[in-house]
Amino acid sequence: MKKYGIMGGTFDPIHFGHLVIANEVLNLFDLDRIIFVPTGTPPHKTSKGLTTSYHRYMMTQFATMTHPFFDVSDFEIRNDEISYTIDTLQHFRDSYPNSKFYFITGTDAVLELSTWKDPEGMLKIFTFIAVNRPGYVIENLDDKLRELADRYNGEIYAVNAPQLQISSTDIRNRISNGRPIKYLLPETVELYILKNRLYQKSER
Ligand code: NAP
Repeated sequence: MKKYGIMGGTFDPIHFGHLVIANEVLNLFDLDRIIFVPTGTPPHKTSKGLTTSYHRYMMTQFATMTHPFFDVSDFEIRNDEISYTIDTLQHFRDSYPNSKFYFITGTDAVLELSTWKDPEGMLKIFTFIAVNRPGYVIENLDDKLRELADRYNGEIYAVNAPQLQISSTDIRNRISNGRPIKYLLPETVELYILKNRLYQKSER
């Protein structure tokens, strides 16, 4: 049975923190592939203030193209409708039958699971991996995740990412304030951002 990690996020922009996490989870859970799924219109956000799905998808492609076991899906960005993770996971389950799926995302998003569409249905079928960012302390995290897993009768694993203090928000702020972003994200993504003048003060 093949094992797939589905790495969901806005990736605005994708950076080395995300890539290190994906590689770590690939190895820890002995997965066959990781599929990055940039969000279309996230259910809890308006598209206002978010870089277009096309740019976020392209940056994710450029960032992952040299890794033999990383792929990128346009499933959520193709859809004009609001994207729900349950629909995304079901899409992959239909596309790759007889496989096991792990949904990987930030701990703060997983802690909001009760507000998502059909958390019970999701956790019945899919395993969640909550990745905590360095320097981001959440009190009683293990208890909170266990409580969620018990409530929905599923499995949630917590993974601590290697200590890379990188965040998309910080990268966006740096660009808009004219500060360097070199070595925080792949050079291909940096060049894409420069070429397309993303995150400049006047454009956000
Ligand atoms: P986000 O704004 O991109 O990220 C939230 C936090 O998690 C940020 O700290 C972010 O760091 C970090 N992060 C993002 N993707 C990550 C990843 N794959 N691994 C580790 N850390 C990650 O994400 P979001 O919009 O809250 O949503 C995250 C995922 O949950 C998406 O796939 C979204 O569709 C899904 N979601 C679904 C529902 C639903 O179905 N109802 C509701 C909420 C969220 P950076 O800022 O550095 O990226």
